Amino acid sequence: MNYDIVWSKVLEQIKNDLSSISYITWFQDTKLYKFENEKAYIIVPMQIHKKHLIDNYSELIISKLQEITNTSYELILLLNEEIVEEEEKKKQEVKTSTNENIGFKENENVNNNLNPKYLFDNFIVGNSNKFAHAAALSVAENPGHMYNPLFLYGNSGLGKTHLMHAIGNYIVENTNKRVLYVTSEQFRQDFVKANRKDDSGTNFNYIDFFKNKYRNIDVLLIDDIQFLGGAGKSQEEFFHTFNNLYNDSKQIIISSDRSPTDLKLLEDRLRTRFTWGLTVNIYPPEYALKTEILKKKIIAGNFEQDIPDDVIEYIASNIGPDVRQLEGSVTRLLAYSAIMGGEAITLDLAIEALKDFISKGIGEKNDIQRIQKIVSEYFQISMEDIRSKKRSSNISFPRQIAMYLCRAMTSESFPKIGTEFGGKDHSTVMHSVEKIENEIKTNKDLANIVEKLKKDIGVV
Ligand code: ADP
Ligand code: MG
Repeated sequence: MNYDIVWSKVLEQIKNDLSSISYITWFQDTKLYKFENEKAYIIVPMQIHKKHLIDNYSELIISKLQEITNTSYELILLLNEEIVEEEEKKKQEVKTSTNENIGFKENENVNNNLNPKYLFDNFIVGNSNKFAHAAALSVAENPGHMYNPLFLYGNSGLGKTHLMHAIGNYIVENTNKRVLYVTSEQFRQDFVKANRKDDSGTNFNYIDFFKNKYRNIDVLLIDDIQFLGGAGKSQEEFFHTFNNLYNDSKQIIISSDRSPTDLKLLEDRLRTRFTWGLTVNIYPPEYALKTEILKKKIIAGNFEQDIPDDVIEYIASNIGPDVRQLEGSVTRLLAYSAIMGGEAITLDLAIEALKDFISKGIGEKNDIQRIQKIVSEYFQISMEDIRSKKRSSNISFPRQIAMYLCRAMTSESFPKIGTEFGGKDHSTVMHSVEKIENEIKTNKDLANIVEKLKKDIGVV
């Protein structure tokens, strides 16, 4: 039985019975850990959830579980730490008893670690992520064939993890293939465990467990590979795992916050392998995608209140590019309105509610200024000049490049970029961006300069 799927069904139903705020507060971050001896072990985020859920919602949870599983379970609510303790205890028991494999037996389903909430169905596609989405779907439909490995990279919060789970869930749903999702940190921890010696000087249990876990699979999804940098021995083991799977035409999907060439802490032989298949960059969402995501999140959240368009526009143009922050802003806005006694959500209320959020967020305005600074330093002109209306070519050319970079690397609209460059109108900005775009195609020197500047600007 897949606990994540069972629990997502329970949550779906509970969601319908509760107000969205109650649901988000009390249920959103819960997880079904396991069923054992007619007990359902549920992980909750904080101590306060235990009491509140037992006092107010235990009947509801028990009845929903019964509807879905036909079993009446007693509820045991636990914090994550408590689960870890329990697992450690268990491992000790197994270690001292027999020679059995730990956590893995033949024919037993490997826990694939997939989050059933991340699907292609709820991944919203726009210009900035359409290539990544198409590549991911193509791998999901045809694992191990066309693009191996698939290397997805981009800044935090742009949907890499979402896409990886979507691939995994799709393959599990449509084939009998064995899928495993891990972060590079989990891989490292497993490797360390496998190499820890027990009293007899060996640790066969874990070595077997490790090999079974990572080599007896058809699809390996490894998230945030940049964290493997510096972990020498784990890196080496990953190299062997990679070769093993690759040679057997097993699909490997890797994500990272930077491109293979920029993964400076990884060995060359790994970086080269990462480029054998398809490397795809996922970009910050453009304005239209941001509004689309906001709208869909509001609908999916089943919130009773409508959020007016001007509020959505306000959020989309002031928050981001991290999609997590977009989601967070919606939650915060609704919580704020509920605390204010269910006040209708208006632009004024949104400005008030998101005040701190916006100044803390990655202000896109700062990104434009950062780009202006890097470009003006490169061309040795002043910030003042690059932000001015001056037309001399030693200034206007760098300005055009800066405008192009702002458009390519941030999710700013043309009018917004215009206001930051001496109040240019939207068509002038568009024209400059197009001009540089075209010139790059034929002028190799310019293309190199732009590449260098992009590297200097780095994470936007
Ligand atoms: P990353 O791994 O790139 O840091 P995540 O995949 O964790 O980002 O995405 C952060 C959050 O934003 C997740 O809740 C994810 O579902 C959501 N998200 C990101 N991109 C999209 C998208 N295009 N459509 C729907 N949700 C998205
Ligand atoms: Mg991620």
